[in-house]
Amino acid sequence: MKKEIFPAFDTIESYGHEQVVYCSNKELGLKAIIGIHNTTLGPALGGTRMWNYANDEEALIDVLRLSRGMTYKAAVAGLNLGGGKAVIIGDSRTQKTEGLFRAFGRFVEGLSGRYITAEDVGTSIKDMEYIMMETRHVTGVSIELGGSGDPSPVTAYGTYVGIKACVNEVFGNDSLNGKKVIIQGAGGNVGKHLCKYLFEEGAVLFVNDLFEEKLKPIAEKYKAKIISENEVFTTEADVLSPAALGGIINDDTIPKLKVKIIAGAANNQLEDEEKHGKMLKDKGILYAPDYVINSGGLINVYNELEGYNRERALKQASGIYDILTNVINISKKENIPTAIASKKLAEERINAVSNAKRIRIYRDVNLFKSRNQ
Ligand code: NAD
Repeated sequence: MKKEIFPAFDTIESYGHEQVVYCSNKELGLKAIIGIHNTTLGPALGGTRMWNYANDEEALIDVLRLSRGMTYKAAVAGLNLGGGKAVIIGDSRTQKTEGLFRAFGRFVEGLSGRYITAEDVGTSIKDMEYIMMETRHVTGVSIELGGSGDPSPVTAYGTYVGIKACVNEVFGNDSLNGKKVIIQGAGGNVGKHLCKYLFEEGAVLFVNDLFEEKLKPIAEKYKAKIISENEVFTTEADVLSPAALGGIINDDTIPKLKVKIIAGAANNQLEDEEKHGKMLKDKGILYAPDYVINSGGLINVYNELEGYNRERALKQASGIYDILTNVINISKKENIPTAIASKKLAEERINAVSNAKRIRIYRDVNLFKSRNQ
């Protein structure tokens, strides 16, 4: 039987990537793919995910999808970074070794800074420290090693200011005093910091988590009401702030929603970006695109590249307020969902820089020509 050949170049071109690197070390069990989507704005930065993919194709599609997402995220956040991501194929519970991560680190080093890695699902600070033994192109290492440590407090702060920008749009002022906010995943790293910021400003909290024992201290400290998973989508409130998992805004949940705003840190909240973004708009729910409101984490590691300073990272994350306001204004002006407006904003910035670079190269070529005439 003829073996099907996977059309790798067609797939890569359809996502618009610059470069895809396959990394292999049989002895150490390393199979990894690095996706560099776009480096117009700067080096491609994005985490390394370790996941037991069913096959190589699935891993490639995931790295292409994730690295393209990073291009948009960095561009909208106003950072001088491109979009990249890496995947290591394997079980993160049983197949991690120092050798594996050091071998991967040598591949990252081979890219001479075109790709900078960080933590992601299935990898930890410890793994980043192994990678750091081989390359300096790694972020998200511990504070003791000159890194930025846990990014969650900055992500939570950015989410908090993003919620305020949305509240300002819907209510005409950005006070959270008395506003009802539902937080899914409130027991997590981002969720618990977010609860603190919201409570301190007088918001009334409704909290949910898969593990209820995580919620008890939060409910006590922040006078929050614990709600069930179903109530996350049926409770009448001002804001729903997803801080757990992706895909929760979909055909089933949208009809149930009784909130005015969805603004939270979870990645990939819309099961289908175009379809569900439009459904929310038609229902009159303001949606803060997830990769815009949760960009505090990326802002945090970006700061590590310049010598980490928490105050500066928080200050930069406060800019999410204006960025989201800009996205909302574009969405209103052009009558398009916010998820599409944020993509437009990202593309405009990349194209402007790309054109400026082209003009500069053209000028340099002409200078060179005139000197040699
Ligand atoms: P986390 O694992 O610390 O917290 C997630 C919480 O969600 C946990 O308490 C978990 O028990 C809960 N949870 C899992 N499944 C659930 C379910 N079905 N229903 C309710 N609760 C559930 O993760 P985190 O670092 O706090 O990140 C939260 C989200 O924000 C993730 O989607 C992550 O990708 C995204 N994010 C995080 C950062 C960051 O800086 N940590 C940055 C950007 C985006």
